[in-house]
Amino acid sequence: MTEQKIFLDGEFVAKEDAKISVYDHGLLYGDGIFEGIRVYNGNIFRLKQHLVRLYESAKSILLTIPYTIEEMTEIVVESVRVNELKSAYIRLVVTRGVGNLGIDPSSCKKASVVVIVEPLALFKEELYETGIKIVSASSRRNRSDVLSPKTKSLNYLNNVLVKIEANLAGVPEALMMNSEGYVAEGSADNIFIVRGKELITPPGYVGALEGITRNAILEIAREQGYEAKEEVFTRHDVYVADEVFLTGTAAEVIAVIEVDGRVIGTGKPGKVTNDLLKTFRKIVEQDGTKV
Ligand code: PMP
Repeated sequence: MTEQKIFLDGEFVAKEDAKISVYDHGLLYGDGIFEGIRVYNGNIFRLKQHLVRLYESAKSILLTIPYTIEEMTEIVVESVRVNELKSAYIRLVVTRGVGNLGIDPSSCKKASVVVIVEPLALFKEELYETGIKIVSASSRRNRSDVLSPKTKSLNYLNNVLVKIEANLAGVPEALMMNSEGYVAEGSADNIFIVRGKELITPPGYVGALEGITRNAILEIAREQGYEAKEEVFTRHDVYVADEVFLTGTAAEVIAVIEVDGRVIGTGKPGKVTNDLLKTFRKIVEQDGTKV
């Protein structure tokens, strides 16, 4: 493997030199946005959609990204190329940039842009065969009217607290409810429940990020004849579902076999989940922006 190179504000630097100021408001206030993207076999999956989400997040927080979306496309492609990786995870971060210690973003003159490319496996491959057990977290999803989950901001403390709950319970992921008790999503992935020919995922307003993988699965499932829809549901519906799975750029499609001690379906990854994972992995190997 070649030495890892990180894109930082216009140049590629070695990992040990990829540093951001302690006065960057991304660090001081979580003032910034990010994307997690993936390249499979030299194809960057749904890069355009990731960049649209990034630029929409930037617009909603009045952050000016110092590159056009076309330039950013080239930066991401070039970042994968220089790291000579065919399959990898890509982390794109845009911070408000260096300012003074006050919260006012107008002291930050220019946003910083970072692109990190590295091999990643969130879950070990055998977990795709066995499925995972999860618990529901006591931390609630932050309310849509406080900080919209559509803005993929650096404010992830809410999600970090949920991940800590998963760690304390000895499971790889935990489920977040919104403040009304409706199921929202995991700490870094979306949730689906399967009921017969119905596939259901919570709508964005409940507190779920409109995940790129989630949207791809909604499309694939509809093509395969399922009634795939966005609908509000509770933990009860999760417990009694035929199948439950999580989706995300890092997670892909992973079966959930137990939630809060309730065994889901047969206690093994179900046919619908397995078929969707298989189709998803076939599509990502072929579709996408070529590196
Ligand atoms: N929800 C949250 C909170 C996330 O951080 C992620 C990962 N980006 C997802 C869902 C899944 O979204 P995607 O499929 O776009 O990776």
